[in-house]
Amino acid sequence: MADEKDRGALLGALEAGGTKMVLATGYADGTVVERFETPTTAPEDVVPRMAAWFKERGVAAVGVGAFGPTGVNPRSATFGHVLDTPKPGWRGYDFRGEMMRGTGVAVGYDTDVNVACLGEVTFGSSRGLDVVVYLTVGTGVGAGVMIDGRLLHGMLHPEAGHVLLTRRADDQAPSSCPFHDNCLEGLAAGPAIQKHWGAPAVELADRPEVWDLESDYLAQALAGYVMCYSPQRIILGGGVMKQEQLFPLVREKVAANIAGYLKTDELADMDSYIVPASLGGDQGIMGCLELARRELEA
Ligand code: ADP
Ligand code: ZN
Repeated sequence: MADEKDRGALLGALEAGGTKMVLATGYADGTVVERFETPTTAPEDVVPRMAAWFKERGVAAVGVGAFGPTGVNPRSATFGHVLDTPKPGWRGYDFRGEMMRGTGVAVGYDTDVNVACLGEVTFGSSRGLDVVVYLTVGTGVGAGVMIDGRLLHGMLHPEAGHVLLTRRADDQAPSSCPFHDNCLEGLAAGPAIQKHWGAPAVELADRPEVWDLESDYLAQALAGYVMCYSPQRIILGGGVMKQEQLFPLVREKVAANIAGYLKTDELADMDSYIVPASLGGDQGIMGCLELARRELEA
C-alpha cells in the first residue's frame, strides 16, 4: 500500500479514436494498471459507459486524447467539443463536458496526436526536449507539436498532416484526402498507399518503389516542419511507420531537402533526429495520464 501512496492518486486515460476507444487507469509515473477497449459508437452510448468505468475505479482525474478536429484551446467556446466530423452523432458534441459530468472529476483534453507527443516527451526517448513534432502516419496523418514544453493549439490545433506537397510526376493515384489533391495525408496515409499500389501497405514491404515514393512525400513534409517549428526532434509513429526501411530513406531525403541551409548539432545526427515512437504503442495512453496529472496540479 505504501507503494501506491508514493505513486499518488489513480488517474484515468482515454485515447478516443475514430474507430475505437482505449481506456486505462494508471499513475503519474506512467504505469498502466488496467485497460479496456470499446468501439466508438454514438456518443450517447459510449461516453456514459466510459465515464462509469472511470468512476467505478475512483480515478482522481482523466486525460483525454481525442480524434480531431476538436476544440482544444481552453479559452475557446468550443473547448472539449468535437467539431466538424462525419462520425454519426459526434459533430458538436460536448465530449469533455459530458466526461466531467459522468465522472465527477476534472478532465484534461487535447488531440490524440498532441497527447502522443506529450507521452514521448514525458516518458519516452524525447524526455527533456522543449520543441518536438510527433507525426502519426496511419489511416490519416496527424501531427502533435510541443513548443517550449507546451502543446501547440493556436486557433485550433496543428493540421500538419494536410500540408500541401509537390506531387511526383509519376504519381497519378487519386488523393485519399477528400479536401486536397496533394496533401501529405492524401498522398501518403495508409489508404493512399493502398489506392496507389492496389494492396494494403503491410503487403508491400518488399516493393522498394513503394517506399521510395512514400519517403519522398514524408521528407517534403518533414523538411517543412524543420523550417517552421525548429524542432529538436521529430518522432514518427502510426501503422505505416512500422515499415522500418522508411527511416533511413526519410532521414536521407530530409537532409537533401534542407540542402545544407541549416547546420545544427541535431541535424548532424539524423539517426537521433528522426526517430520511431519509443513507448511501444503506449505513447498516447501515457500522454493521457500526464494530461490527467496536470489537471490535478492546475
Ligand atoms: P489509425 O491511424 O487508424 O489509428 P494505424 O496507425 O494502425 O491506425 O494505421 C492504420 C493504417 O496503417 C492502415 O492504412 C494500414 O494499412 C497501415 N498499416 C498498419 N500496419 C502496417 C504495417 N505493418 N506496415 C505498413 N502499413 C501498415
Ligand atoms: Zn488533406
